[in-house]
Formats: sequence, C-alpha cells, structure tokens
Amino acid sequence: MDERTSGAVQIDLGESYPEIRALVRRICAKFPGEYWRKLEESQSYPTDFVAALTEAGLLGSLIPEEYGGLGLPLGAASATLEEIHAAGCNAGACHAQIYMMGTVLRHGSAEQKQKYLPDIAAGRLRLQAFGVTEPTTGSDTTKLKTRAERRNDHYQVSGQKVWTSRALHSDLMLLLARTTPLDQVKKKSDGLSVFLVDVKTSLGNGLEIRPLPAMVNHNTTEVFFDSLRVPFENLVGEEGKGFRYILDSMNAERILVASEAIGDGRWFVEKGAKYATERTVFDRPIGQNQGVQFPIARAYAEIEAASLMVRKATAMFEAGKQCGPEANMAKLLASEASWHAGEAALQTHGGFGFATEYDVERKWRETRLFQVAPISTNLILAYLAEHVLGMPRSY
Ligand SMILES: Cc1cc2nc3c(=O)[nH]c(=O)nc-3n(C[C@H](O)[C@H](O)[C@H](O)COP(=O)(O)OP(=O)(O)OC[C@H]3O[C@@H](n4cnc5c(N)ncnc54)[C@H](O)[C@@H]3O)c2cc1C
Repeated sequence: MDERTSGAVQIDLGESYPEIRALVRRICAKFPGEYWRKLEESQSYPTDFVAALTEAGLLGSLIPEEYGGLGLPLGAASATLEEIHAAGCNAGACHAQIYMMGTVLRHGSAEQKQKYLPDIAAGRLRLQAFGVTEPTTGSDTTKLKTRAERRNDHYQVSGQKVWTSRALHSDLMLLLARTTPLDQVKKKSDGLSVFLVDVKTSLGNGLEIRPLPAMVNHNTTEVFFDSLRVPFENLVGEEGKGFRYILDSMNAERILVASEAIGDGRWFVEKGAKYATERTVFDRPIGQNQGVQFPIARAYAEIEAASLMVRKATAMFEAGKQCGPEANMAKLLASEASWHAGEAALQTHGGFGFATEYDVERKWRETRLFQVAPISTNLILAYLAEHVLGMPRSY
C-alpha cells in the first residue's frame, strides 16, 4: 500500500447529510421542469433558484463559521449538488460559489479573507466566475496567453478567456494569468498568478464580456481583457505560484461535479424505470422486455459503483489526503455512468424522449457536458496513465 492511500479513511456509505438532502429536496420541489425549460428558451439565469439556495445557506456551506459560513466538510456540498441534480434541477448556475472561495480561503491574505468571505457566505457577493480556459491553448493550460504585467501600483491585464461561465452573474472573477513569460521560467507551471477581478467595476474599463450561446443553458461567456487595471491587493497568494493554487482547488471541483453527475444518473434511472413500467405497447409494459429493462438496470449499477468512488474521493479529501487520482476517477466514472443512464432513459422514452416537456432531452444534453468540462475524459486518462501507472507522458 502506498503512503498516499495508507491509513484508514471512513467512507460514508449511508444517506449522508439527511437533513441537508431533505432541505434541498424541499427547495427543488419549487423549481419543476417547466421553470428550467422557460429559462432555456431565453437563455436566462435561474435567479430565484440561486436565491433560494443562498437563503438556506447552502452556497456557503464550506466557508468556516468564523466567516459566516456553515463550516461543513466537502461531503455536505457533495450531498447538496447530488440532490439538486437528482431532483431534475441544475446547479451549474451557482455550484462554483460553493468551492471557488477555497482558493481565497487557503491561499488568500488575512485581509482578503476578512474582506470577501463573509460577503460570499451571505450571498451578498458572488464569486463564481473562473477564468482559466483560453481559445487558442485549451487544455494546455500552462501555455495560456493572458498576461498580467506589473505597473507602479497595479497589474495590467491583456488577453482573452473563453467558456467563462456565469461571468455576467458574478461580482468577482478568479483569473489565472501569466505574470512571467513562459521562456523565462524553469517549469512551465511557474510564472502563473491568480487574481480576483472585480467584474462590475472593470466592465467597460478594460473588461468586456460577451455571452457565448451553447448547447446547455450554462450562462457561459467570452471574456476580453484590454489593459485592465487590477490592483496589487487583488493578487491571491504569491506571484508566480497561481497554477499550484488552482490545482489545489481542482480536486474539490472534480468531486463536486462528479456528485452532480451521480444526481443526474439517479434522475435518469428513476425516470426511465417509471416510464418503462407505465408505458404499454404490444399489450404489456415496455419494461417487461429485457431489452428495455437491462440498460436501465446496468445504468443503475454503474451509478452505484461511481458513487462509491465519489465517496472515497470525498473521504480522502476530508481527511486531508492527496486524492488527485480518486477525484479524477470519480469525475471520469460518474460522467460516463450518468451519460449511460441518460442514453437508457432517452431510448426508453422513445419519441417522447425528444419532447421537451419530459425534460429527458434537456438533462441528456446537460449531463453530456461532464465528459468535457471542467476537464475532458482524455486528459484524466492521460493523468492516470502517467502519474498513477508510471507510463510515459503522452503529450
Ligand atoms: C458549457 C461549458 C462551460 C465551461 N465553463 C468553464 C469555466 O467556467 N471556466 C473555464 O476556465 N473553462 C470552462 N469551460 C472550458 C472547459 O474546461 C474546456 O472546454 C475543457 O477543459 C476542454 O478544453 P478545450 O475545449 O479547449 O478542448 P481542447 O483542449 O481543444 O481538446 C479538444 C479535445 O481533444 C482532446 N485532447 C486534447 N489534447 C489531448 C491529448 N494530448 N491527448 C488526448 N486527447 C487530447 C480533449 O480531451 C478534447 O476531447 C467550459 C466549457 C463548457 C463547454
């Protein structure tokens, strides 16, 4: 057994956080499929849904109590997001509010924590835009081209991001930019820095944000920086070490996104099994045919197995262990399990799977995203091959 995985880790196999799950179910019951369909038609933001979660304190669950949050472990957020998705809702509009503050909490200065965390916990301040991906460099993050150059009393930022979700619904953006040119650093992951960009005051003053219409209603955008002034005090942690800070937060993000995929999978399995039992064709329920019931049963088994990996990764994260492989495997397995469940549910619904009123096609499109963002399947496989299995680096 290697050092990373040695030592007992308690894995919760029951219905973790039952009160939180019940609370989430009660909130989600007020936001049925019709609500989400209407939003999609106008590509609008689920303001009321986000307000309800905020009021219940659920978006500040991981912020320590001393800053006004609930001070709960990652498993509480995982249960929240799983239930949201299992109820047919979508947390993509606000999930980042739960975990992005982790970069400030772990690496920010005492002043930054005092300044931002209480307002984030109370929902007065939205920190849910994450500017990493760029159009020309994609998954090759360390090659990103957005530059932040030191001036007298500020950094001057120029460059472009793409797929920056929720930027038009966020007060702050966590931005990853290069502060030292690539050809002047020893390691390509050096020389990148993280900044808190004040979106509202920057708009029109060097910051432009354009909506990017997409297959799912994710309120995602393209972001343009043209000599934007970012004050020195908005640098998080040390200059040049930003890539490490971002990597630090990624395990939490992977685990939470995997929890959403598990929730989607549960929704698909329940919907599919119910429809298969109720729909009668050739004088018997379609679910009486093994060709219909087996894909749903198999999807259920895959979701249960992926859920175990999510719980293992969560337990390791909470125990402070290095959980990169488990967090990545959780995301990989959950995204594929939810996709298979979505396929089974869609096929089971036949033509009605394509009717928007059943919500199956919406959830099917939504759950497809998890195989691409926040990291695509191939990049996870490359990580496991190289860093866990010791094979040569493939890129
Ligand atoms: C709806 C949506 C919301 C998003 N929200 C955000 C956000 O808020 N913030 C943010 O920063 N980003 C966001 N993203 C971006 C997302 O993280 C990226 O799309 C994702 O990481 C893949 O990067 P890419 O699109 O540049 O694909 P590319 O890097 O161009 O890759 C394209 C394909 O090639 C494969 N590939 C590339 N290189 C290799 C290799 N060496 N070996 C094998 N396969 C390879 C990839 O797996 C992928 O399938 C979002 C994306 C979407 C679609």
